Amino acid sequence: MCLLFVAAAALVASPGEVLPAHASPAAHVAPAPRPASVGSPNEGRLVAGVRLEPKPYLRVMRSPEGRWGMPELVGLLDRGARRVARRFPGSTLGVGDLSRRDGGDVMGHHSHESGRDADVAFYLRDARGKQIVSPQMFAIDERGRATNLTGAAFDDARNWALLEAWLTDPETRINRVFVADHVRDRLLAFARRVGAPAQLRARAAEVMLQPAGPAHDDHFHVRIGCPRNQKGCLEFVTKEAPPHRDRGQAGRAPRPRRRAGSAPVVRPAAAVEPAADDFADDPPQP
Ligand SMILES: [Zn+2]
Repeated sequence: MCLLFVAAAALVASPGEVLPAHASPAAHVAPAPRPASVGSPNEGRLVAGVRLEPKPYLRVMRSPEGRWGMPELVGLLDRGARRVARRFPGSTLGVGDLSRRDGGDVMGHHSHESGRDADVAFYLRDARGKQIVSPQMFAIDERGRATNLTGAAFDDARNWALLEAWLTDPETRINRVFVADHVRDRLLAFARRVGAPAQLRARAAEVMLQPAGPAHDDHFHVRIGCPRNQKGCLEFVTKEAPPHRDRGQAGRAPRPRRRAGSAPVVRPAAAVEPAADDFADDPPQP
């Protein structure tokens, strides 16, 4: 049936219609849009993102809906997990939510809207140093123990290896790693103990930040910077806009509304200083 249709179509199309040698039916299809992170992490969207796929060294912990991101983010997560697994064979990194396929609001998050944010579980270990893999994320107390999983502890070596991989990634620049202060302190102390280069430790100290909201004591929330050639991408969070605001065109930053005859609305640099990142927080979740 299908073959007959194709043959008939070819007969109809052929008389008198001479296609140039290089032309093919595919040439008439509009080119695929390029990946774009539009707007800010808390007020943005994602165009032509890629999906994070599970690998032997990377497991996906949340719904398939929230597994989309900019290629730079998905690549970072994959390369980071692979590097840790090369150094500590058998390790698997648990990754929670990224963004939805088209970005925008994600239930349970203030940000994660523009394909540049991901929640990443800590590596946990048992008393002998073996990795503990769980479908859940567990809070870590001040002494480095998992509060709700007997015998599990924060794995300093693997988690530092992951952070090191992110900070030295050849393709992607990190903007922030939101994490609780006591976890940040642990990692910096560990890095000092194992003789990590001072420059790397300084960069780690600069990037890790406990957000104003929930403490992030059960996961890293990694946010990458705006990839190159992303004109509509806003590096930092923006003040929440009133609902139903125009979202702007593809590839452009959302613009504030302006009443006819009024002066342009100036948003204070649109971006809030990262240190005052009140919107990076996620709700407490397992
Ligand atoms: Zn998050």
